[in-house]
Amino acid sequence: MNTIKQNLVNVRSHIDTAAQKCGRSPDEITLLAVSKTKPVSDIEKAIACGQTEFGENYVQEGVDKISYFAENKNLVWHFIGPLQSNKTRLVAEHFAWCHTIDRLKIAQRLSDQRPTTLPPLNVLIQINISDENSKSGISLTELDGLAAQISILPGIKLRGLMAIPAPENDYNKQVEVLEKMHQAFKQLQNQYPDIDTLSMGMTGDMEAAIACGSTLVRIGTAIFGARDYANK
Ligand SMILES: *Cc1c(COP(=O)(O)O)cnc(C)c1O
Repeated sequence: MNTIKQNLVNVRSHIDTAAQKCGRSPDEITLLAVSKTKPVSDIEKAIACGQTEFGENYVQEGVDKISYFAENKNLVWHFIGPLQSNKTRLVAEHFAWCHTIDRLKIAQRLSDQRPTTLPPLNVLIQINISDENSKSGISLTELDGLAAQISILPGIKLRGLMAIPAPENDYNKQVEVLEKMHQAFKQLQNQYPDIDTLSMGMTGDMEAAIACGSTLVRIGTAIFGARDYANK
């Protein structure tokens, strides 16, 4: 077995165990393979193991990979990086999801620029849950307002929330932060029936995220190995 194949088997079994531990069905949890900085040959190996959902952080790198795999209609591409307004068109034209909506202007541009030949772009509002000054995302107090404005835009579809908590190794402390996301997600679901996606959990906090209701974990390192940012 190649390393990526072995890693995918391990990550899936890790997800299954974490789900069973808290009485959830593993089917409720989508594994997003985060392939940023990794070559298409690595993505090919993951595809050969049945992986279909991929996450990319850099617009041009992501678009290049989407074009490379254009003939494979099973693949679902998620944009998960910070998005500047001059790059929204590429995301609107090429990706199926954008996880990092943190202001109306970006949402509006994505909606306007989404080709009418494609279904609406699925979007998540990014929450700055650890309240770090440097991180992107809105605070929970701003959520109701932004959700109301976004939910009426025709070219995008609000599907839920995303967070990147500050790095933390202690499981209980991870849960403390992630549970705030869980509560906000449930409240949003009460208001909008189409909300079904809570994007949280990375290689280091996957188990806690699943215990706190995550429906999509974004895993890079545990699948593809450590990243080399030398060319970024
Ligand atoms: C890079 C990245 C990941 C994957 O992180 P790992 O720790 O390598 O699993 C997940 N989410 C976002 C937003 C990322 O930028």
